[in-house]
Amino acid sequence: MISHSYDELLRSKHRLAMLLFFFLNSATALFSMVYPPDNAVAMPFPLVVIFTLCCGGLIFSFFSKKNYSAHLNMCSVIVGLLWAWQIALRFEEVGQTDKNYLVISLLSIFFISAIALSDNFLAFCLHAAPSTVCVIFLDDFQHIGHILFTVMLPLIGLWLHHLMLKRSDEFTRRMVSNLYSEREKFSDLSMLDPLTGLYNRRGLQNKLETLFNQASGHYVMLLDIDHFKAYNDNYGHSMGDQALVRVSAAIRDAVRSRDVVVRYGGEEFLVLMSNVKQEHAIRMAERIQNKILGLNIPHLFNAQVSTHVTVSAGLAALEEGDFISALGHADASLYKAKNSGRNKIFYAWEENNEHQEIAEERLA
Ligand code: GH3
Ligand code: MG
Ligand code: MG
Repeated sequence: MISHSYDELLRSKHRLAMLLFFFLNSATALFSMVYPPDNAVAMPFPLVVIFTLCCGGLIFSFFSKKNYSAHLNMCSVIVGLLWAWQIALRFEEVGQTDKNYLVISLLSIFFISAIALSDNFLAFCLHAAPSTVCVIFLDDFQHIGHILFTVMLPLIGLWLHHLMLKRSDEFTRRMVSNLYSEREKFSDLSMLDPLTGLYNRRGLQNKLETLFNQASGHYVMLLDIDHFKAYNDNYGHSMGDQALVRVSAAIRDAVRSRDVVVRYGGEEFLVLMSNVKQEHAIRMAERIQNKILGLNIPHLFNAQVSTHVTVSAGLAALEEGDFISALGHADASLYKAKNSGRNKIFYAWEENNEHQEIAEERLA
């Protein structure tokens, strides 16, 4: 996004250069027509063409939504040739009386080029070259050294300026793209729980925003480790952390990659399944429970339930995109599972607010 807007910025800069180019050329042509030298034709053909072309270009570029700055080189060469023609015509009229005419003409062209085309070295050369060649010929090569020196000096300066600009452009672009990828990385990290690597609530929120555009068949499952406070109190907090990491991995392992697994609270997890049938969602809950039991993490203080770490689960269908009520139903089912002795799965029947235990024999 940022690099995209940086490109936008460059494009608008090129568009402005184009507008400035047309404006300066048309203004100079208009000035020459309004204040012609004595004994000179007020509206010679090349001047009229430059004025008309550049006014047209100015209006068109101003109102057009498209960016035509790619045509700047072509415009520069056309206008440059017309200026050379204009200089040649006027030199015939005033060359004998005005000795400085050639120098002033050349400087005017260079002035326009330097202001409007300083960012575009090629366009600069294309705009100034025809007049330079024309002036050298009209001058009969008498002051060729002086003319070339006057022309080469700004050219070299501009070329160096152009190189520096290009480097700083590349540098800015690199920085912008680094910034962009860093931002993406931090935004991703801010959605993950650092201990388990699962999504946190922010990640869940982000997933929910895209989920409802997808197919139906969504289920919410809440899982809570049984008697985990007792585990922590007896085995220590760091063992508790390790158990959390292993349980998280087991949950992630048991579900499909498209399912969203969230560390919803301390020892509470949420699984969001999409595009599944009820039967399949129930089977997934059973798989999770079995996987966690299969980890064989000793938990002697879970004795009423098992001698190992277990989880209780509440499952509910997510209907009509109403995540909040599905979560409420899953939570109520989880509560039932806890109250019915733990290490159980309860499914919420939304219609009559019932919570049904998934038959224990299925938990093979
Ligand atoms: P229940 O079976 O009813 O869920 O009982 P419980 O002991 O699991 O529930 P309770 O809410 O009383 O305790 C949850 C415990 O989870 C409390 C806290 O010590 C532990 N816990 C929460 N987050 C972390 C964590 O990041 N690391 C560790 N080690 N323990 C945590
Ligand atoms: Mg618990
Ligand atoms: Mg809890």
